[in-house]
Amino acid sequence: MSSELAALVRASHACVVLTGAGVSTASGIPDFRGDHGLWTRQDAARVASIDGFYADPRGFYAFWGKHLAGLERATPNDAHLVVAKLEARGLVHTLITQNVDGLHQIAGSRDPLEVHGNFRRARCLQCGARYETASFLAELRPSETPSCTICSGLVKPDVVLFGEALDSSFERAQAAVRACDLLVAMGTSLEVAPVSDLVPAAVDAGAKVVIVNRDPTPFDDEATLVLDGDLVARMRGLARELVLPL
Ligand code: ZN
Repeated sequence: MSSELAALVRASHACVVLTGAGVSTASGIPDFRGDHGLWTRQDAARVASIDGFYADPRGFYAFWGKHLAGLERATPNDAHLVVAKLEARGLVHTLITQNVDGLHQIAGSRDPLEVHGNFRRARCLQCGARYETASFLAELRPSETPSCTICSGLVKPDVVLFGEALDSSFERAQAAVRACDLLVAMGTSLEVAPVSDLVPAAVDAGAKVVIVNRDPTPFDDEATLVLDGDLVARMRGLARELVLPL
């Protein structure tokens, strides 16, 4: 029940929220991974791995260009808004997200730890120049290699691809989880390591764990509370319990 979650959030002094694709599906963003994701297993090596990117950067951008328009049009849903309100109220101290859509910031979250990066940004791999992915793509001709206007280096979206290590935001996420007393994992299947390791890390640190997800996760047995069903409805329920206006 949302009332149980509200009681746990109220009692917590250091609450960490971890979000995954399920938070953004209500905004029309498809789950990138998984059986019904944007890419099939064959696609993954080509369009979602660092080797695939280096092998065919034009093909990589051609695939992602099709999905970028949808991402640009997407707006935050009430789940994003409730998380932002919880932060503003001081009830959530750290937000960790696996999503690369940037919707948490648009909803008002200040400094989410984007452990898989953010597709809206891109960077030159040679000189570090920064680009907005959408405007960079808009100026790119299909026959052109996606290269930096300053140094001609290859420009890559700021997302963590298969075969790449996570950046320092993941270390900050680990530190936040080790110091938390409540971890609320929402909209994530908790099947993608190393992010899924954050749940046992929280348990080891003595924190309570709440899992809000449509489907069962491998960590449900370790959770204090498991809520299934519609995530956005759950979050609206939480907002009502905590008297957070939406
Ligand atoms: Zn450059």
